[in-house]
Amino acid sequence: MSLLLDYQYFPITKPGKGAGGKTGSWRVVKPVVDLSKCIGCKACFMFCPESTIVPKGGKVTVDYEYCKGCGVCSNVCPVKAISMVSET
Ligand code: SF4
Ligand code: SF4
Repeated sequence: MSLLLDYQYFPITKPGKGAGGKTGSWRVVKPVVDLSKCIGCKACFMFCPESTIVPKGGKVTVDYEYCKGCGVCSNVCPVKAISMVSET
Protein backbone atom coordinates (compact mmCIF):
# COMPACT_ATOMS: atom_id res chain seq x y z
CA MET A 1 0.00 0.00 0.00
CA SER A 2 1.34 3.45 -0.84
CA LEU A 3 0.36 6.70 0.80
CA LEU A 4 0.60 9.85 -1.32
CA LEU A 5 0.03 13.23 0.23
CA ASP A 6 -1.04 16.37 -1.63
CA TYR A 7 2.34 18.02 -1.19
CA GLN A 8 3.99 15.16 -3.03
CA TYR A 9 2.14 16.21 -6.17
CA PHE A 10 2.77 19.95 -5.82
CA PRO A 11 5.92 20.53 -3.74
CA ILE A 12 5.81 24.30 -4.18
CA THR A 13 5.45 27.08 -1.67
CA LYS A 14 2.97 29.94 -1.69
CA PRO A 15 4.22 33.53 -1.33
CA GLY A 16 3.22 35.11 1.94
CA LYS A 17 0.48 37.73 1.84
CA GLY A 18 2.13 39.95 4.44
CA ALA A 19 4.52 42.76 3.52
CA GLY A 20 7.38 40.53 4.72
CA GLY A 21 6.87 38.18 1.78
CA LYS A 22 6.95 40.91 -0.83
CA THR A 23 9.96 41.72 -2.95
CA GLY A 24 11.86 44.71 -1.67
CA SER A 25 13.79 47.28 -3.64
CA TRP A 26 16.76 44.90 -3.58
CA ARG A 27 15.68 42.86 -6.65
CA VAL A 28 18.11 43.73 -9.46
CA VAL A 29 16.77 41.58 -12.31
CA LYS A 30 13.29 40.39 -13.19
CA PRO A 31 12.06 37.64 -15.51
CA VAL A 32 10.23 38.73 -18.66
CA VAL A 33 8.29 36.09 -20.59
CA ASP A 34 8.29 36.20 -24.40
CA LEU A 35 4.81 34.84 -25.02
CA SER A 36 5.58 34.29 -28.71
CA LYS A 37 8.16 31.67 -27.67
CA CYS A 38 6.33 30.16 -24.65
CA ILE A 39 4.89 26.68 -25.34
CA GLY A 40 2.94 26.53 -22.07
CA CYS A 41 4.83 23.57 -20.59
CA LYS A 42 4.62 25.08 -17.05
CA ALA A 43 8.17 24.01 -16.12
CA CYS A 44 8.76 27.52 -14.76
CA PHE A 45 5.58 27.26 -12.68
CA MET A 46 6.72 23.94 -11.18
CA PHE A 47 10.24 25.06 -10.33
CA CYS A 48 9.74 28.65 -9.12
CA PRO A 49 10.72 28.55 -5.42
CA GLU A 50 8.45 31.50 -4.64
CA SER A 51 5.40 30.24 -6.54
CA THR A 52 5.21 33.53 -8.38
CA ILE A 53 4.71 32.12 -11.86
CA VAL A 54 1.00 32.23 -12.65
CA PRO A 55 -0.48 29.97 -15.38
CA LYS A 56 -2.81 32.03 -17.53
CA GLY A 57 -4.57 31.21 -20.78
CA GLY A 58 -2.31 28.24 -21.55
CA LYS A 59 0.83 30.34 -20.96
CA VAL A 60 2.28 32.09 -17.91
CA THR A 61 2.65 35.48 -16.26
CA VAL A 62 4.84 36.60 -13.35
CA ASP A 63 3.64 38.05 -10.03
CA TYR A 64 6.26 40.77 -9.63
CA GLU A 65 4.96 41.67 -6.17
CA TYR A 66 6.64 38.53 -4.84
CA CYS A 67 9.18 37.46 -7.51
CA LYS A 68 12.72 37.55 -6.05
CA GLY A 69 14.55 37.55 -9.40
CA CYS A 70 16.45 34.32 -8.72
CA GLY A 71 16.39 33.20 -12.37
CA VAL A 72 15.35 29.60 -11.77
CA CYS A 73 12.41 30.00 -14.17
CA SER A 74 14.69 31.27 -16.91
CA ASN A 75 17.10 28.38 -16.44
CA VAL A 76 14.46 25.64 -16.65
CA CYS A 77 12.54 27.01 -19.64
CA PRO A 78 13.18 24.54 -22.49
CA VAL A 79 12.66 27.15 -25.24
CA LYS A 80 14.46 30.10 -23.57
CA ALA A 81 11.29 32.17 -23.44
CA ILE A 82 12.22 33.89 -20.18
CA SER A 83 14.85 36.62 -20.12
CA MET A 84 16.27 38.11 -16.94
CA VAL A 85 16.12 41.87 -17.43
CA SER A 86 18.05 44.41 -15.35
CA GLU A 87 16.02 46.76 -13.16
CA THR A 88 18.91 49.04 -12.28
S1 SF4 B 1 12.92 34.80 -10.98
FE1 SF4 B 1 12.75 33.23 -9.35
S2 SF4 B 1 11.12 34.01 -8.00
FE2 SF4 B 1 10.93 35.15 -9.92
S3 SF4 B 1 9.43 34.01 -11.15
FE3 SF4 B 1 11.49 33.25 -11.72
S4 SF4 B 1 11.85 31.46 -10.41
FE4 SF4 B 1 10.14 32.65 -9.50
S1 SF4 C 1 9.02 27.08 -18.94
FE1 SF4 C 1 9.08 28.48 -20.71
S2 SF4 C 1 7.81 27.45 -22.27
FE2 SF4 C 1 7.34 26.50 -20.29
S3 SF4 C 1 5.52 27.67 -19.53
FE3 SF4 C 1 7.38 28.64 -18.67
S4 SF4 C 1 7.89 30.30 -20.13
FE4 SF4 C 1 6.47 28.92 -21.16
